[in-house]
Amino acid sequence: MSGSKMTSVPAVQRVMGASVRIADRAAEIIRGILRAGDLGIVQKTGINDLQTEADRSAQRCIVANLARQFPRLTIIGEEEPDDRPVPDDWIVESGADPRAETLQCPEGLTGITEDQIVVWVDPLDGTKEFTQGLLDHVTVLIGIAAGGEPAAGVINQPYFNYQHPSEPQGRTIFGLRGGGVAGFEPRAPPADSRIVTTTRSHSTGLVQSALQALQPDQVLAVGGAGHKVMLLLEGRAHAYVFASPGCKKWDTCAPEAILTALGGRLTDIHGVQLRYEADVQHMNATGVLATAPGVEHDWYVQRIPADVRDGLKPKSG
Ligand code: AMP
Ligand code: MG
Ligand code: MG
Repeated sequence: MSGSKMTSVPAVQRVMGASVRIADRAAEIIRGILRAGDLGIVQKTGINDLQTEADRSAQRCIVANLARQFPRLTIIGEEEPDDRPVPDDWIVESGADPRAETLQCPEGLTGITEDQIVVWVDPLDGTKEFTQGLLDHVTVLIGIAAGGEPAAGVINQPYFNYQHPSEPQGRTIFGLRGGGVAGFEPRAPPADSRIVTTTRSHSTGLVQSALQALQPDQVLAVGGAGHKVMLLLEGRAHAYVFASPGCKKWDTCAPEAILTALGGRLTDIHGVQLRYEADVQHMNATGVLATAPGVEHDWYVQRIPADVRDGLKPKSG
């Protein structure tokens, strides 16, 4: 019976359920490397674009497990591919987190086959903050796209509750577009103020002009795309505005899937949908604008000043 049940669960949902368990293992690896104390920091494009042993190992764990369980997936990770065999204890036995099957897979996603799925992996989002000890900015992101759109997403927070040692440590949240979310309690942001979250370590003149034009009551400058979308999901901010290139498809795919599962939105700064086909440009070159469920996305898009829009024009041709 379990065999027939297995095959009746749609591929998107099976990949999501497996990704929850795989993200949990990657989070343990990240915590272990930080505890051991040797981060092995490498600069990629500069001092604000870092990679650590935790980023490298977490990606190896995620890619090896997904490829082992779902050999026909297309997997695109932030870090350089590394096909060396992983240690035995990094392997997660096949099987999904049981909560994944409690979500109702919408009809539009049931027919998608494994070979049509593109998985976008950010093994550690918020690396700069990780190296600075701002551990609650760190997430592990596994985004599951089909037909160029985010279908499901997994966000693990390895250091959730790290400042409250008596509480359970770390958590994984996930969601299926049109099928709901699990692992946390969604909350609406306050109705009587405007709180905008943005980058902490990649600000520019354009980033600041976009923020000013929105006349926020409060700006939360924090690390990580995953962390900022979590602030929207938990009612701590109304919008995430980043009027600059730099954020990539692996930063936005999982957060967008979970946000849209609850009725929020994530687009570029012009209000245009991002695409997640395997052959798209990795860079979100025209910026990122996300709004919490119930917040009017177009209000934010319309207030982005012309000079900011001109500075982030889509390349023609
Ligand atoms: P932030 O909001 O600055 O934490 O950025 C969110 C994600 O986009 C992180 O994965 C960053 O590494 C990435 N990112 C944003 N801007 C840049 C940039 N200028 N260079 C490299 N990565 C960036
Ligand atoms: Mg990232
Ligand atoms: Mg990363």
